[in-house]
Amino acid sequence: MTRGVPTCSGLRTLLWAPDLTIQPGQHVENEDTKRRFANLVDVSALEDSLVRIKPRPATDAELLRFHTPAHLALLEQVCAAGGGEVGGKTFVGRASFDIARLAVGGVLEAVDAVMTGAVDNAYVLCRPPGHHAEAELVTGFCLLANGVLGVEHARAVHGVKRIAVVDWDVHHGNGAETAYYDDPDVLTISLHQDNLFPDGRGNLSETGGPGAPGGNINIPLPPGSGSGAYREAFEQVVLPALARFRPEMIFVASGFDAAAMDPLGCMMLSSADFRYMAEALLGVADEVCGGRMVLTHEGGYSAGYVPYCGLAVLEALSGVRSGIADPFLAYIPNYGAQGLQPHQKAAVEAVLSTHKNVGPAQAPASIREKNHDKHA
Ligand code: ZN
Repeated sequence: MTRGVPTCSGLRTLLWAPDLTIQPGQHVENEDTKRRFANLVDVSALEDSLVRIKPRPATDAELLRFHTPAHLALLEQVCAAGGGEVGGKTFVGRASFDIARLAVGGVLEAVDAVMTGAVDNAYVLCRPPGHHAEAELVTGFCLLANGVLGVEHARAVHGVKRIAVVDWDVHHGNGAETAYYDDPDVLTISLHQDNLFPDGRGNLSETGGPGAPGGNINIPLPPGSGSGAYREAFEQVVLPALARFRPEMIFVASGFDAAAMDPLGCMMLSSADFRYMAEALLGVADEVCGGRMVLTHEGGYSAGYVPYCGLAVLEALSGVRSGIADPFLAYIPNYGAQGLQPHQKAAVEAVLSTHKNVGPAQAPASIREKNHDKHA
């Protein structure tokens, strides 16, 4: 079924590949997930507690901090011709480059707002996503590297030196990994479903270049991982690594495709788990970098569930409850094997034995205290 289609997910191609013999459906990367998330925020009490940040188009100079002139020229040309495929089975229309510039500009404005103290932290609800884009590579529905360009903006404009990027999208965060593989000032951490997308990326053994040994932490988790596996990965690896690295700012590639209802991922997270991850990162950020975090919206393809997961993250970031309950919490946390399974524990232990300088001993004080209470 996937013959001639160089993607790793049969489900992705199932909906729209031109060589299929079934009725075509809507492309999984469509506006519904983002629009419904925004609509839920609009009707929630949370709306009054948030500061809206107006995006602007990013300039060529800002995009060229990471992308090549050839990359921008390709997008320009294909869009001007009315659209088409620009690589990695990723398609654009006439206005896609303009919209992608706005997505990046939204990230840059969010970075400015956080760095100047206008807001405590920021969530950039944008489309298209960006965490698969590389300097001269369009793939996985990503045209421009939204998050990486945010990192570069923080460095160039605000003089931020040490930055961490945490990617909880179910697919590997290859964009940031490639950009900073040999850069000791940017720690990249990706939690993802083992060998999902891109093909062959996200391996445990890819730990950073000679200039930045240990500066890239891949946490490939087995399909079927749920609440227990992600919390183990956070408590054993992610939070200690951040506390040890002590970034001045944290970026998060916030995909919701590790959620239980996602058509592209095979994980089982609920909105409560996304709330946990956001609160945990905020806890470290409060301890090491004055709470400075910028989250960029990435994947997440369940039009029914992305909004609730997103709202939970915004509630965590703002510290305000919207009063809107996630109706799916009556089911998802009760799925079988939500707790930490032996093979999932082994996957996290493999990360720890690969990165011997990271472990619970470096965990932030809040986590150590919690664990102490748990074991007392
Ligand atoms: Zn994804």
